[in-house]
Amino acid sequence: MLPLDPQADIGRRAWVTCPNCEDHLGCATCGQGSRCSEHWRYLLTNTGSLLHLQCPSCTHIWDHETGFGATRTRWTRTTSGLHRK
Ligand SMILES: [Zn+2]
Ligand SMILES: [Zn+2]
Repeated sequence: MLPLDPQADIGRRAWVTCPNCEDHLGCATCGQGSRCSEHWRYLLTNTGSLLHLQCPSCTHIWDHETGFGATRTRWTRTTSGLHRK
């Protein structure tokens, strides 16, 4: 298990499901899409719509592209913020 990232701050949380441990499965609160008090992730950093997250349950670190009504692809849409003129 990785140590918690030094940027992990309980004041910066994100409600994204963890692709590693999927600890939200079977949770009624998460199943309703609510902000569960147990199943949240540390928001380490974010670049535009790309969130850099760490799971407090399994310490998995990953990037989550929130996108703009888009799919769950992780890396392919990172340049989508370039439409600024
Ligand atoms: Zn996890
Ligand atoms: Zn939950």
